[in-house]
Amino acid sequence: MRPEDACLKCGACCAYYRASFYWSEADPTLGGSVPPELTTPIDLFLVAMKGTEANPPRCIALHGKIGESVHCTIYEQRPSPCREFAVSWLDGRPNPRCDQARAAWGLPPLRFEDVWGFAQIDLTSPPLPIDAPAAPSGALSLPVDGGVAKGGETELPTPPTSTSQAA
Ligand code: SF4
Ligand code: SF4
Repeated sequence: MRPEDACLKCGACCAYYRASFYWSEADPTLGGSVPPELTTPIDLFLVAMKGTEANPPRCIALHGKIGESVHCTIYEQRPSPCREFAVSWLDGRPNPRCDQARAAWGLPPLRFEDVWGFAQIDLTSPPLPIDAPAAPSGALSLPVDGGVAKGGETELPTPPTSTSQAA
């Protein structure tokens, strides 16, 4: 299973964020790969994938039904923001922006196993002790305030009576 396979059942970020980038990425004379006819100007420097600047957004290059089965029709030519957008857990951590786009489409956050096909190993737990010696008897019977440890029991002092005070 490849991590990006999870995206083939999603597509939420392509219909949530504006995919904008420097115009030269859509200029073939400058080595740009993005088909210019699929972009629209944003300002002097930026263009966006058509549809992602709309409200509600949806990229013109996205085909399929979000949350079920989708694909990017220009996957090999997609612009830098799309290449750099990481599916959750790609680097071992969730991507809050991935989670946010999915939530907007009523989809739950991806779990590690949804992306990698196996459960995450917990490396934070300390290892179990091997043949640890048994604690000596009574070692945990520490004295407490107002009491005296004795054979694993706590004996509280007897409060003075009024008779003994008078004497
Ligand atoms: S929102 Fe996340 S899971 Fe969905 S297509 Fe984008 S990167 Fe993939
Ligand atoms: S170009 Fe492809 S990856 Fe980028 S927003 Fe459009 S459909 Fe999604």
